[in-house]
Amino acid sequence: MAISLPPILEPERTEPEHAAARLSGNELRLRDGHGRALTDLRLSVTDRCNYRCVYCRTGNDGAQFTELPIEQYARMLRVFVALGIEKVRLTGGEPLLRHGLLDLIRETAKLRAAFSDAPLDIAITTNGHLLAPMAKELKAAGLARITISMDAVDTGTFTRITRVPGSFERVQEGIRAAQGAGLGPVKINCVLLRGFNDSQIEAFAEFSRREKVIVRFIECMPLEEDRTWSPETVVPMREIIARLNAVRPLVALPANHASETARRFTFDDGVGEIGIIAPVSEAFCGHCSRVRVTSDGKLRTCLFSQSDHDLIGLMLRGANDDEMSSWIRRIVQHKEARHHIGEPGFLKPSRSMVHIGG
Ligand code: SAM
Repeated sequence: MAISLPPILEPERTEPEHAAARLSGNELRLRDGHGRALTDLRLSVTDRCNYRCVYCRTGNDGAQFTELPIEQYARMLRVFVALGIEKVRLTGGEPLLRHGLLDLIRETAKLRAAFSDAPLDIAITTNGHLLAPMAKELKAAGLARITISMDAVDTGTFTRITRVPGSFERVQEGIRAAQGAGLGPVKINCVLLRGFNDSQIEAFAEFSRREKVIVRFIECMPLEEDRTWSPETVVPMREIIARLNAVRPLVALPANHASETARRFTFDDGVGEIGIIAPVSEAFCGHCSRVRVTSDGKLRTCLFSQSDHDLIGLMLRGANDDEMSSWIRRIVQHKEARHHIGEPGFLKPSRSMVHIGG
């Protein structure tokens, strides 16, 4: 039976408004060699994680972990915000494991005052396991938004993925606490894996509608420690859309901003919101606005980079803020045009997701 798909909107690709408002001259804006304005920084504050999700980590606990003192992350953040970064996402590993996280958020929030003509959007991506008792403090420290990873809506499937008993209930408490603390609308990230949780697509639609959360399905990328990815593990966007459309007719929503990675939808009654992030089947590299700093202080220009750049080394050798800024500007000139997933000769990146920061 043919299923009619809703039109997929091409978001309007304009410069982010904030950058234009804040930076008085083009010379200040951080840009790569392809002319893309880089306004989003993902900073990993640890590569430790209390979950061992099957598509991300090995089952072993023997890995070496690397973290920097919180003040060193704060210094890097200051330099990046002065370069026009508008959105900081703290990630990991599991960022809520990180001692000093609240101090880092407070310090980051102060950067708003230093650049007061524009807001700085501070967000976090967490598995939610430790969230319930921390949600109010995170909000009070200056966190604006939260994304919680949740790959199934039932206990059994969830535990098979995280490999941590009791994790599902903890994450549900975390979601409710975040909503109660005013961190809503909460976004739920679900990485779909063929044969593991692709049976949950419809249940996630109901979850979004019932719990008033934004559910975002993400195509699985070859970023796992175990190197088990294959094209067959990916559940492509078109299939997700068709399945959701059979639950209720989908209605496309406009992009929130120019570099939005998710295609947004609601249902025909306006209840629930679904995002679909399709880096594999419909790559959005042309509009990439991201740079990343790993928990060991290396600058990465792409998730799929074959190498990273020693920002912490430069800092520890005594570089001042201006020298760090100039160095960052030079490095991002060479940001990759796009990834090459699925193409002949594709090389997996030099690090896996848990060590890069998702
Ligand atoms: N521990 C936190 C969490 O669980 O959200 C933050 C780190 S985690 C690496 C960040 C995000 O990356 C999660 O939503 C996770 O599902 C996603 N992720 C991990 N491996 C992935 C992969 N191979 N493909 C797509 N997304 C992945």
